[in-house]
Amino acid sequence: MAKKRLPEHHCSFCGRTENQGATILPSPNEDAGICIDCLEMAANMLGMIPEDMPQSNATALSARAHNRCVNKGTISNNDESKQIPKPAEIKEFLDQYIVGQEQAKKYLSVAVYNHYKRLDQPADADGVEIEKSNIIMVGPTGTGKTLIARTIAKLLNVPFTIVDATVLTQAGYVGEDIESLLTRLLQAADYDVKRAERGIVFIDEIDKIARKGDNPSITRDVGGEGVQQGLLKLLEGSVVNVPPQGGRKHPEQPMIAVDTKNILFICGGAFEGIEQAIAHRLNSSFVGFSTAEGSRRIERDQFMRHVAPQDLRTFGLIPEIIGRLPILTHLLPLDRDALRQILTEPKNAITRQYVKLFAMDGVKLEFEPAALDFIVDKAIEYKLGARGLRSIVETIMMNAMYDIPSSKIKTFNVTPEFCAQQLEAAHFDAQAV
Ligand code: ADP
Repeated sequence: MAKKRLPEHHCSFCGRTENQGATILPSPNEDAGICIDCLEMAANMLGMIPEDMPQSNATALSARAHNRCVNKGTISNNDESKQIPKPAEIKEFLDQYIVGQEQAKKYLSVAVYNHYKRLDQPADADGVEIEKSNIIMVGPTGTGKTLIARTIAKLLNVPFTIVDATVLTQAGYVGEDIESLLTRLLQAADYDVKRAERGIVFIDEIDKIARKGDNPSITRDVGGEGVQQGLLKLLEGSVVNVPPQGGRKHPEQPMIAVDTKNILFICGGAFEGIEQAIAHRLNSSFVGFSTAEGSRRIERDQFMRHVAPQDLRTFGLIPEIIGRLPILTHLLPLDRDALRQILTEPKNAITRQYVKLFAMDGVKLEFEPAALDFIVDKAIEYKLGARGLRSIVETIMMNAMYDIPSSKIKTFNVTPEFCAQQLEAAHFDAQAV
């Protein structure tokens, strides 16, 4: 995607730019600014609020000032949150795209709903302040973590970005500054700071920034605890100076101040081997409580269901980070049935996409059930999981997609024999392993 040019000056209060008709008074070093409207508003408030004015009047005054900004379009009027669907509706929407992973879908639905309710809470009210609840999803790679986050963002129509935690390093080292993940969010929001401040950031591979060892002096841990500390600042909610074009910060670059208080962070990680930590924890407690029964046997795949914050700690996430990710949910490995469903059932299932592609050429495409079984078998055989389904189908369909549009064929049946033949011709086995 082409990078957007940063407007030269913007108001640090309402976010409007000169291009949007604001007259900006920049600070002497030009790294901040205030528009005439905000200046006037501030002056009004200072002049009009005597120290002894009752609190309710003061609140009304600031509310009027806020409304002025909203009416002028300088503060986004929370359009997204006005139409926030209920948790059950969010889950229903997710069900159309994501197979299985019931707990993750449910937890995410509730978390996102609460998050946006929290944004709507009145500032003063009764002293009860709803705190932010970021989310962490633990589950093997290719089981739908990114897909869930992406699907939710689609439903809510808020700026959304995916960042890979592995590119982040501590300031001063090769890699990207932590703040650069907000650059992507700003870009997704077309540099509308207020919208970005209500967006969702999906941080993938959070497990890769786990602390490498207990003694940082032996091997320098530039991608581990240092990054976690940096990330903590964002998760906690603070005003961060973001380099508008990403990468490393440097002194000459103008920065954009972004408040992360209302940004929802969803983290995902495979935490490979976490089952052992869970098993260890569970078995020792079961033995402790029930010596007659001995330790209870739990299927390996089922361990994930019991994941708890202390397992993340064993894995090297610092307790402060874990504390800032209070919603912990898991995704289960996809079994044969799930893979088979993924192939055909979700709204934009892979086979449906091919049927549509062919239909656009007036060709009726059908996958025989045995062909679907064959494709699933191959995904399992090559340990490619759900991610592999698409590349397998793509390889199988390549020749047909090349030949059929210029032929007279009007119906095309995909058989298991055809699948085997196409994969063999493309030497798929050699590519896959
Ligand atoms: P993760 O983030 O867990 O590594 P992804 O969400 O990126 O995995 O999944 C990779 C692809 O596999 C998705 O784009 C989707 O096509 C498919 N997929 C994975 N899990 C599911 C699922 N539970 N339901 C439907 N499709 C899935």
